[in-house]
Amino acid sequence: MPEPGYLTLHRRGELIERAEKLERLLSPCRLCPWECGAERTSGHPGRCRSTNQLKVSSTNLHFGEEPPISGQRGSGTIFLTNCTLRCLFCQNYPISQMGNGVEMGAQELADEMVALQKKGAHNINLVTPTHWTAHIVRALSIAADRGLTVPLVWNTSGYERVETLRLLEGIVDIYLPDLKYGDDANALSLSGCENYFSTATVAISEMFRQVGLLEVDSEGIGVKGLIVRHMVLPQNLSGTPGVLSWIRENLGSEVSVALMNQYFPAWKAASSPPLDKPLSSEEYALQRETFFSLGFNNGWVQE
Ligand code: SF4
Repeated sequence: MPEPGYLTLHRRGELIERAEKLERLLSPCRLCPWECGAERTSGHPGRCRSTNQLKVSSTNLHFGEEPPISGQRGSGTIFLTNCTLRCLFCQNYPISQMGNGVEMGAQELADEMVALQKKGAHNINLVTPTHWTAHIVRALSIAADRGLTVPLVWNTSGYERVETLRLLEGIVDIYLPDLKYGDDANALSLSGCENYFSTATVAISEMFRQVGLLEVDSEGIGVKGLIVRHMVLPQNLSGTPGVLSWIRENLGSEVSVALMNQYFPAWKAASSPPLDKPLSSEEYALQRETFFSLGFNNGWVQE
């Protein structure tokens, strides 16, 4: 198995340099596309409700990700607290919107990474990492000294700033972004973000430039590359044909795409029709046909 990129950078001393550069973006904060300018190191939270104090909700082996991510032994999943988006149907809302989690330092986060590897994790899977990018890279530089060797997965909403992503080049092995909407209008009403599609598509193009198509080892476990996720919403609020067409036109038919059907009305969706009902099997089947008609050769659809 090829060595994860962060180990190569660490040997050259570049991982700590990247952590320092990212830490300089924390105050005024310009880590994510909001560029809200919060003075986080002085204790002021940004639009993502995050100060400089890292918070982590949970760390565990997760078996429900795509097969190259979960494998047989599980993905070493670290759920980070808060989020840069405000999706009213978020299934992780206690973590993303209500701030559930415990405060942690970089040393402790590094310990958690190494502990997950010792439990057999195929990778370290950082869920909603964007606003904690600087803290994560700092922790990674410590974990690399302590023997971390598994690939790093960046499991993100897709709402990422390209300048920040460039500082992750060679550090992240597998990008696992959502592309949630096919236009900016629904992203504004459902996730409170007026430029989601235009920003996420640029970000995903940058991710693809960095890591390319998904590569797996002899056991089918991902070592490098891009997987784009898209969850179909009721009444096509997700703009699924537009999402899939953009992927096909800009990333090609060989890119790995996960078309997900697990929508259910969580958080504020229960009082927000038409999101107050689960996705019907007919609605999902329609979008699955779109997926196949566009000629995607790699990825996952659900029955
Ligand atoms: S990461 Fe948070 S604090 Fe930083 S720019 Fe984005 S919303 Fe603002």
